[in-house]
Amino acid sequence: MLITKAVEECGGKYLDDVEIDENIRITWINARGKVIYDSEQDPDFLENHADRTEISQAFETGEGSSSRYSKTIMQKTVNHAVRLKDGSVIRVSGTHISFTAQLLKVLNPMLLILAAVALFSALSASAVSRNIVKPINDIDLANPDTQKSYKELAPLLEKLRSQNRKVNRQMDEIIRSREQFSLMTESMTEGLIIADPKLSVLACNSSAKKLLGAGAFTEGQSIYALNNSEVFRRCLLNALGGRRSECILRTGNGQREVIASPANSIDMVCGLVVFIMDVTEKQELETMRREFTSNVSHELKTPLTTIYGISDMLANGMVQQDDVAQFGENIRSEAERLINLINDIVALSKLDEDSAPRENESVELYALAEEVLSRLKLSAEEKNVTVSLNGDRVSLMGSRTVLSEVLYNLCDNAIKYNTNGGKLDVKISHIPQMAMITVSDTGMGIPRQHIGRIFERFYRVDKSRSRRIKGTGLGLSIVKHGVMYHNGNIHVESEVGKGTVFTVELPIEKNKEVFE
Ligand code: ADP
Repeated sequence: MLITKAVEECGGKYLDDVEIDENIRITWINARGKVIYDSEQDPDFLENHADRTEISQAFETGEGSSSRYSKTIMQKTVNHAVRLKDGSVIRVSGTHISFTAQLLKVLNPMLLILAAVALFSALSASAVSRNIVKPINDIDLANPDTQKSYKELAPLLEKLRSQNRKVNRQMDEIIRSREQFSLMTESMTEGLIIADPKLSVLACNSSAKKLLGAGAFTEGQSIYALNNSEVFRRCLLNALGGRRSECILRTGNGQREVIASPANSIDMVCGLVVFIMDVTEKQELETMRREFTSNVSHELKTPLTTIYGISDMLANGMVQQDDVAQFGENIRSEAERLINLINDIVALSKLDEDSAPRENESVELYALAEEVLSRLKLSAEEKNVTVSLNGDRVSLMGSRTVLSEVLYNLCDNAIKYNTNGGKLDVKISHIPQMAMITVSDTGMGIPRQHIGRIFERFYRVDKSRSRRIKGTGLGLSIVKHGVMYHNGNIHVESEVGKGTVFTVELPIEKNKEVFE
């Protein structure tokens, strides 16, 4: 009211001179709503105020008021407008700061001080705790003795020392057991692999690597790095399924039998133990045994069928009297073939089983050769083969029967496969620590491609030619086994059309030890 009166009397000058509180704003608006004075802003930049609630009320009724609350700044603004006599309006606006805002205004500096104190305490606490913990962090866990720290840490250091001693003892124990384990497994000829359920190898001896033909392999790698074949994989997967599993692997250097067993803990497979054995020889022997049985059956059947056929004809009177002698001769010759065959099989099986008597007798090879050649005198004469024997008188400890069979078969072949009027030379020599037998003939010779196979059982070079020349195909097998039986070796040189030389070397001293 006061302001209204003052303005009516003194006009704008009053407003220019009056001192206005910072919470009060005075605005003078002319009758058209244009601001002509404002205590806070330049009136030229203010918009028309005619439509403001308090102003329009004042224009109409002489007085008007309005208020507005701002949540953000927690302030309430109250406007009151009064119309002057000249139609202009004076508006006074005052701001009310809420209690909360007032409180915050007071609290703000306190909060700042509190935050600063909190920050300072946090920083100093962290520095102090770092200082306390530093000696603990600096402890060398492996060598706590080397640490100089305050005495409160002594019990902790002592505990560490005793823990270290315990761990070292246990480590030594583990290393010793591991060394023992690898020492034992390394001396095995069988391969041994231990793998975890993911098939990573935990232990693998060198026999396993060798038998599986694996190159560079280190423990920790997958077991498939040793062998990746389908058969091996299936075998291991079966074992992982909880069943003991076996398979035969064909590697580049032979056949291997693999036995994979699951290692069970409670009812879970916690790993695999795999054994690998070299079964090349066993498998080859098995094949040979099968072939031998079928060959023997065939060889026995042929002469028996002939004998049966001829005797059947004789029994039924189907043979003319003049032919009886010839048929009888046929039966005799087939029976002889059967006897020879059976004798050879018996000799061979004895050598095979290593059951030939280890005669502890000194055998003089020159005399033995004389005896053998005298037994073959008739067949040599039938074929006009000139026989000669020369060399040294050499004795060795061994089996007379076996050595006699070796000599007999070599000389028998040298006559059988000789040409009519050919020559057979037998030489016995004493070379350092060895006795050497050389049997040379001037016969048909053996084609190069057959030489590697003539020692196989029932192998005959030329089936049609051999049929004319009696033989079982077992003679050279007997020779080979007889030589091996005496720890010797045999060698052949042959030229087709010129002849063949068999050289046998038998150790003298070695056989002495074996046979004595
Ligand atoms: P066989 O009973 O057939 O003589 P062997 O095992 O003694 O059986 O000999 C195997 C084969 O080797 C013979 O069938 C023959 O073809 C060949 N052979 C062996 N010795 C001689 C030799 N001195 N000269 C030529 N060929 C030979």
